[in-house]
Amino acid sequence: CNRKGKTPRRLPPKKASNSQKDPVGVYCRVRPLGAEDEECCIEVISNTTIQLHAPDGLKANRNGEFKETQYSFKKVFGIKTTQGELFEDVAKPLVEDIIHCKNGLLFTYGVTGSGKTHTMTGSPGQGGLLPRSLDMIFNSIGPYQAKRYVFKPDDKNGMEVQNQVDALLDRQKRDSQTTVPKTPTTRRIDPEFADMISPEEACKADGVDEDSSYSVFVSYIEIYNNYIYDLLEETPIDPIKPKPPQSKILREDQNHNMYVAGCTEVEVKSTEEAFEVFWRGQKKRRIANTQLNRESSRSHSVFIIKLAQAPLDADGDNVLQDKNQVNVSQLCLVDLAGSERTSRTRAEGSRLREAGNINQSLMTLRTCIEVLRENQMCGTNKMVPYRDSKVTHLFKNYFDGEGKVRMVVCVNPKADDYEETLLVMRFAEMTQEVEVARPVDRPICGFAAGRRQRNQAFKEELTRRLEERGGPLDGESPTVLNQLLQSFPPLPPCEISGPNDDVTLPRLIEALEKRHKIRQMMIEEYNKTANMLKSVLQEQDSNLLSKENFIQEQRGKLGEKDKMLQNQKNEIDRLEKKSKMLEYKIDILQKTTNIYEEDKRSLQHELESREQRLQREMSEKRRMEARMQGIVTDSKLKWEKECERRVNAKQLEMQNKLWVKDEKLKQLKAIVTEGKTENRQPQRPSREKDKVPAKRSASPSPVPTGPPVRPLHRRSHSAGGERWVDHKPNTNVDLDTVLQPNLPNAIKVNAPSEKALSKCDKYVLTHQEVASDGEIQTKLIKGEVFKTRGGGQAVQFTDIETLKQENPVAASRKRRSSETGPDGEPKEGDWTDVETRCSVAVEMRAGSNLGPGYQHHGYPKRRKP
Ligand code: ADP
Ligand code: MG
Repeated sequence: CNRKGKTPRRLPPKKASNSQKDPVGVYCRVRPLGAEDEECCIEVISNTTIQLHAPDGLKANRNGEFKETQYSFKKVFGIKTTQGELFEDVAKPLVEDIIHCKNGLLFTYGVTGSGKTHTMTGSPGQGGLLPRSLDMIFNSIGPYQAKRYVFKPDDKNGMEVQNQVDALLDRQKRDSQTTVPKTPTTRRIDPEFADMISPEEACKADGVDEDSSYSVFVSYIEIYNNYIYDLLEETPIDPIKPKPPQSKILREDQNHNMYVAGCTEVEVKSTEEAFEVFWRGQKKRRIANTQLNRESSRSHSVFIIKLAQAPLDADGDNVLQDKNQVNVSQLCLVDLAGSERTSRTRAEGSRLREAGNINQSLMTLRTCIEVLRENQMCGTNKMVPYRDSKVTHLFKNYFDGEGKVRMVVCVNPKADDYEETLLVMRFAEMTQEVEVARPVDRPICGFAAGRRQRNQAFKEELTRRLEERGGPLDGESPTVLNQLLQSFPPLPPCEISGPNDDVTLPRLIEALEKRHKIRQMMIEEYNKTANMLKSVLQEQDSNLLSKENFIQEQRGKLGEKDKMLQNQKNEIDRLEKKSKMLEYKIDILQKTTNIYEEDKRSLQHELESREQRLQREMSEKRRMEARMQGIVTDSKLKWEKECERRVNAKQLEMQNKLWVKDEKLKQLKAIVTEGKTENRQPQRPSREKDKVPAKRSASPSPVPTGPPVRPLHRRSHSAGGERWVDHKPNTNVDLDTVLQPNLPNAIKVNAPSEKALSKCDKYVLTHQEVASDGEIQTKLIKGEVFKTRGGGQAVQFTDIETLKQENPVAASRKRRSSETGPDGEPKEGDWTDVETRCSVAVEMRAGSNLGPGYQHHGYPKRRKP
């Protein structure tokens, strides 16, 4: 407790620090139709929902526009709902709140004639929410009300506590003004508002703090054309020249609550008194409306019930003299102007502007609600245009700060109102979505509870004790002072009979002395009691102080914990948001991953198939390569062989040609040399001769006579004579001829081999060919074998024997043709023919690997690496 002396701690500012919010409570009341045969367009379908039916005329005109026709509210009150039932649900919680230091705002909204005033004010026998609220307040705080003027409103929407003396003086001043009737004693109630509430309907709030003192203040204002008028202001009414009422302005107090500056606040002590004040304002309103030609349905009326409460002091006797301990809560009861549009008001001329302004206020209210809703729902921070109208400006703190807000939407089910009612419903539905901070609980004051009761008990005890000293006189009220006075011995008659009266005075003196003695005694006793009480109180006070300190400490801790909790909550919120975001991100990433994985899988699949294909192609390629390699090697080998063969053939051919030429040359040479010698004989005639024995027989020695051409080179003859290589190719045909060359000791070969050649010195080739006459002709080509310088063997052909078989029929012809030469010599053709044959024979060998030409010239068999 931040306490100075015995003053309990300051109350914290009333500004909302509560994060809890409640939606604006919207209730719907359907009034009965004026006449039973009227068309009804509203149906209550449950205790929270109504259904709107478009009237027949409208339905026909605008098809399909009125589809959404159900509206839900916190509660719907049908035509049979009584004022008491409505109060029970709608206003009672607000009254409970005001008693527990929480503000409340209750307004009725609807089209003119929909029952707003009926709901708020009511009529005799059917009191509305306003008289019932007042009644409940007084029922609840009745016994705990402070004396009048103990609470005194300052001019800044605050409340001061006056000391007893000032309050008493104010009371005396009021009493002297006869205009104000003494409320508690007078029970004459204006018949206009009699029976607003019957005693059996009275209700009471629970949990009223009886250690507090209460006072109710009411004010009543009207907002017309966006001007505020004080309906309780005491102004002399001049019936001849009525003074136009002065408008008031709005101010903001230190708690940021809006208030009407300089507005009359009347302290009332009972329901009747309060309602009387209200009625006074109502009357004034009516008069002003008639005087100024205004339409009352166009104005908003605001009745404010302010409840001031302050704790009793430690003695429980008086209200604590501390302004900061005063708590003021208020309940605003607002009867709004008709919500209908200007066109419906039949406003003309000068009234049009006013009507427009009134609508403007309601329009601002609608806009404010819309913006509030948007801000709350979307988390935006749009400015709410409270200041655009007095009504909304006045209620700013209810929506911005804290306090319960409730609205009764009044509807008339008649068809004429249908379109307006639709607008009302839409506004009402929207209003339900606005949230208002929940008011926080009033902090507990620092004093011990039960002070009022203890004080009362003390007072009773004192009275009892004083009574013991002498009962009160008849007719006198048993006040403490009277009791004290009565406890003194009565004064003797103090009328002095004459100058010599010496009895009266001494008797008076004696009596006074006696009284003085008693007084002294009483003072002593009083002091003793007072001291005792003081010490008890001090003890209690110190107890209290320590308890307060403890409480304060705990409160501090609680505050810290609260703060920590709040921080943690914020952190949790933040983390939750973050986690949500991350979850969202994860989700997206998961999806992306899935897509990628899918991609990967398909790519892998493709890769695999491509690899397989590649493998296949590779193996195919390898196979092809191997095949190609094989083909290449084969063809290379073939071509190598072929090339070799061709080269060899060519070489052989060339050699043979060379050899033939050589041979010719040699023969020519021989001829030339033969002519010089005695045994000169041309080669040709020898040939000629050769032919002849072939016809006769095979010559026993095919070797021509005469010495060898080159004896030096000749192989030495063995003892057995010459050794022959008898070369008979396999192609030869056995002709079964009689004359066969007889070659003893010959080595028979079908292809000339070097080995054979090296062993012999003579060579004979048996060559068969078809002659020009078609007969097979066998030639024996003879030669001598020589060793070449390179180590090979060479054959020098020396002789050719021709063996010819002849068909006896064709023989003559053949012979004739051969003998047709001019000088008996064989024709050049023959010579050429042999030459060619020989060449061919040799060529035939050349086709084989070891052709004779090759051998003859003794080239060693050589292969390239
Ligand atoms: P508003 O204030 O909305 O213009 P009023 O409260 O003046 O409307 O109502 C117009 C008339 O309808 C009054 O005569 C009133 O008695 C009557 N009325 C309104 N609501 C009800 C109701 N719920 N039950 C009975 N009569 C009603
Ligand atoms: Mg009205």
